[in-house]
Parts: sequence; structure tokens; C-alpha cells
Amino acid sequence: MTGRVPALRRGTNLARIAGFNEAVIIDAIRRSKGGLSRVELTELTSLSAQTISNICRRMIEAGLIVEGERVVTGVGKPRTLLSLNPAGQYAVGVHLDPLVMTFVVLDFTGSVVAHSQQPTPTAASPDEVMDDVRETLEDLIASTGIDDAAIAGIGFASPGPIDTQAGVILDPPHLPGWRNVPLRDHLRETTDLPVLLDKDVIAAAVGERWAGATMGYANSVFVYLSTGVGVGITIDDTVVRGFSSNAGDIGHLVVDPDGPLCECGLHGCMGASLSPAAFVAAAVDAGVLPASTLRAGSDPARLDKAFDRLVGRADAGDVAALEVIRMSAVRLAKAVDTLANLVDTEVVAFGGPTWTRLSGHYLRLVPDMVAGHLVRGALGPLRVRGTALGEDVVAIGAACLVLDRAFSPHAASFALSG
Ligand SMILES: [Zn+2]
Repeated sequence: MTGRVPALRRGTNLARIAGFNEAVIIDAIRRSKGGLSRVELTELTSLSAQTISNICRRMIEAGLIVEGERVVTGVGKPRTLLSLNPAGQYAVGVHLDPLVMTFVVLDFTGSVVAHSQQPTPTAASPDEVMDDVRETLEDLIASTGIDDAAIAGIGFASPGPIDTQAGVILDPPHLPGWRNVPLRDHLRETTDLPVLLDKDVIAAAVGERWAGATMGYANSVFVYLSTGVGVGITIDDTVVRGFSSNAGDIGHLVVDPDGPLCECGLHGCMGASLSPAAFVAAAVDAGVLPASTLRAGSDPARLDKAFDRLVGRADAGDVAALEVIRMSAVRLAKAVDTLANLVDTEVVAFGGPTWTRLSGHYLRLVPDMVAGHLVRGALGPLRVRGTALGEDVVAIGAACLVLDRAFSPHAASFALSG
């Protein structure tokens, strides 16, 4: 068993809040949307009526669940529906992105109750950024009036590579200056709250499973399209973290041998082909944007503006701009083919700033492009969908990591919690 335990489980300082049976009940109620009666819980969980009754009483006393209306369903006594108390627990999520930092507070049902966003300072040292993060968190939590005791913890999502066991951000390629930053311990000491550090795409995949586009699917792939690309893979109801908890680095998968040159020396890597810089270069080649646009170089903010101009032209029906988008969809579909065939997934969901811009085009183009290449094609089409959590998917996912860790009935975390 020990060899299969993900590093996160060993490196975490976040204690489980619910016992296994409590977590099973919370999970069933959370998935039910409208609430469940004790009788329905007994049927769903196979726990005895007495056990359900005892656990529910304790959780009502603890403020985690609440009794709602009494409903009559056929013969017998009216049943009282139990639902999660939104104020029962809260979790904080932070997404560190090369361009912006996003902060959210989620209630126990996964709804966002507070949100803030600010540019990631480019010139500041990691120490200064972490001080900024702490101040923003304090202000945000204070603005909600939530007592610290009701906050289960802070989930922090960073680009990889990271060392989840040590809680250290190693040296993400798009975060110059961030090298061996002991983020988790620093934040824990300065905020006095439990902190989990995880990779951005893994946080996003957990968030979509908790409250988003892949909820209810045992096998799913989440593709994050931003300055870089990454995937969060779920197999048999478990988000795959891998040996070092850095799974999902798909940036160097070649999706077009004639595509743009990547820093790794190959042509047409997925990351290099779907970066904002690649879109802008293709738009200049196609005459959609003037050659002077390339003076933006690698400056992310200026590239972003140029990318927006390309999307604006495509949205307005410009044929050349639409062709640039179509070519990028071919490359994206190639990556989706490979992923879907490799892990035999039911659904692929997309998110990230590039997806936000292009979702209308990609939802129209990608499903048909993928259809012909699926090995299991006869079993029905692959479901292709956009994030249900919007632009804040990674920050929300980071907070969901905390709720997932504290309240989900995962065998691996229980094996270690004792
Ligand atoms: Zn490459």
C-alpha cells in the first residue's frame, strides 16, 4: 500500500475533519443537490439506519449539515431532507499564475463567497509576493466576516514543477525568479492556517470533479490552456498525481511536425503551438495582424492584447482569422486524440484564458475533428465541454483540494490519517 500512496498524503499538514462514514454521508448529500433523507442515505451508503442516525445527529450538532423541509413520499412518515450547511466549513483557494493571482473563498457547498484578483508583480521577489498573498488573504477573509476556526485551510495552486511533499515551488518555467520557494511552510506560519500546495492543473481537475464539468464522471481529462498547457487526468475516480505529483506536463507532445519551433528544439510541441505567442505569430503570417505586432516579443501583457485582436477579428467573421483559429483547433484535437486514446476517458473538459477566448470556436470545431480518431469510437462520441467554473477554475480547484482532502472518502487518505 505504501508505494501507492500519493506524496500529497504524506506531505500535508491538513488533518482530516470527517471520519470515513461521515465523509461518505457528506459526499452523498453533496452530490444529491436537493438534499437526502436518512432513509435515502441508508439505501445509498449501505450503512445501518442506526449508524446514519447517530452520525447525522453529530454532524447537525457540529453545524456541518442542516435539517430542511419535511417531504411526503408515498406511504409512511414524512421524511426530513438533510443538506450541507453552507456555513459549516469554508476553504480558501489561491492561484498563482504568471500574469494574475486569483483568490477565492468557498463555502461548504462549493459556492464562491469572496473573490479577488491582482496582477502578479513581475519585478518583486518571491518573498515580497508571499507577503502580498498573506495580506490579500487576510483582507479577503476579514471581508467575509468568517471566523478562522471555520476555515478548513488554504489550497495554493502553482505552475509546476513543485515538490508537494516539502511544499516547495521548484522552478516553474513561466515564473522567472521562483526557485526553491518554501511556499507552504511560509504561508502556514504567517496565516496560522493549514496549507496544501498542488500543481495548477491538478487543482483544476479536482475542482471540475467537485463542482464543475466533470462531476459524476469516473474518467475524465481536463486540459488547461494558458501561457503554457497542462492536463489533469482522472482515472477510476482518482486524480492522477504521479510519482512526484507533477503529472500532466504535456507541453512537449508534438501535435504538428510543421508547427512552430519549441525551446526544446522540436517543432510543433503542444505548448509552443497553442501559446499566445504562437497565435500572434500565425496571425501576422496570415496578414490578420500587422508585422509590427511582433515587436511585443515575449511580453505577456502585450501578447495578450494582440491575441485579443486576433480573436476579435475571428469573432467578426474574418476568414483569415478564422483559419488561424481552425489550424490551432486541428493541433488541439490531435492532443485530445492522443489523450483520449491513452487513458480511455469519457469526457474532456477545457479551461484557462485561451479557452475563455476561443470556447465558441473550439466547441464547434474540436468534437468533429476528434471523432474519427477515437479507438473506442463505436462506443459513442467523446464528450467535449468547457469548464463549468469559468476563469477562476484553478483558484476554485485549489479551495476544493482542501474540501476534498478534509471531507471526501478517499481510501488513500484514510489509510494515513490514523
Ligand atoms: Zn518542446
